[in-house]
Amino acid sequence: MKKALLSLSFTIALASIPHLRLEAATGALDIYWVDVEGGAATLIVTPAGESILIDSGNPGGRDPGRIHDVASKVAGLQRIDHLITTHLHTDHYGGAAEISQLMPISSVYDNGIPDQNPDNNPEDRTWLLKIKPYREFKADKRNVIKPGDSIPLKQAAKGLPVSIRCLAAKQDVIPPAANVRLAANPACTDAPTREKDTSDNANSIVMLLEMGDFQFFVAGDLTWNTERQLVCPAILVPQVDVYQVTHHGLDVSNNPLLIRALSPAVSIMSNGTQKGCGAETFSTLKSLPSIQAMYQIHRNLRADSQNNTANEHIANLEARCQANYIKLSLEPSAKTYTVSIPTTGHKRAFTTK
Ligand SMILES: [Zn+2]
Repeated sequence: MKKALLSLSFTIALASIPHLRLEAATGALDIYWVDVEGGAATLIVTPAGESILIDSGNPGGRDPGRIHDVASKVAGLQRIDHLITTHLHTDHYGGAAEISQLMPISSVYDNGIPDQNPDNNPEDRTWLLKIKPYREFKADKRNVIKPGDSIPLKQAAKGLPVSIRCLAAKQDVIPPAANVRLAANPACTDAPTREKDTSDNANSIVMLLEMGDFQFFVAGDLTWNTERQLVCPAILVPQVDVYQVTHHGLDVSNNPLLIRALSPAVSIMSNGTQKGCGAETFSTLKSLPSIQAMYQIHRNLRADSQNNTANEHIANLEARCQANYIKLSLEPSAKTYTVSIPTTGHKRAFTTK
């Protein structure tokens, strides 16, 4: 009886802490890729129950609604603790203001909001109006992130620590650790650079999530030459478990030099039915000795249907889709993780490298 009372009061105490999920007691780390039709929205829930949303899809009801549904109904969240906006293109920042109307957003991290169009187009007179909702939505704190910065995360009482660190932002990359002498990367010698990208894609914020041996790399829409800076002249990135395919899988990104250095076991692409899933990106990923499974949010429904992974690894096969999400769940020891598409029943386990 006493025990039952105790556990009841414990449950009430837990429930009274608004953003502490009961599931958090499991010690798992979960990542959700929400279907935002060729935009990006990656939701991370730490073992301590904190939430990190990387990019917020498009404005206009659909994407904020889908993100809020996954956050509240599936992940059991009542707030977004940290929002990271990789860069200021509509498909990445557009949903944030509407999400903030549906659930509070505590801290925002981005490259700062310029007064002019971020794609170096000063003729664009619509920018200030376009960015207004993002600039003005209510958040507890706004932060400009720099390479080397870590987002302050609460840690669960038991279990492995979790960290998420910025590796690059605004075309600046982390310096090598002071105590490490890095060898030159021989792959750089003959690897081509491309014409300078003057769009905000090149400024994308790059983040590395770590828990135990597990590592997840996400780089927004970072383009070829900035990707190269992460691996040339020396490799500044670790070999990771999971690679969020950069820029929806477009070939102006996904420099093979970087992907080969990252050497992921699993790739997850936030593409649309007509966007991303580029031929070069696809062949780079397929050719990796490390790759075990490639996932896509959508089947590429263009004529180049050969640029698709196996149907069982695709969350949405039809254009008029159910907005199925992809979920990754890392077990508390961080030794294994499963990737699933809950609506189709697909589930596959992987061993952390
Ligand atoms: Zn994009």
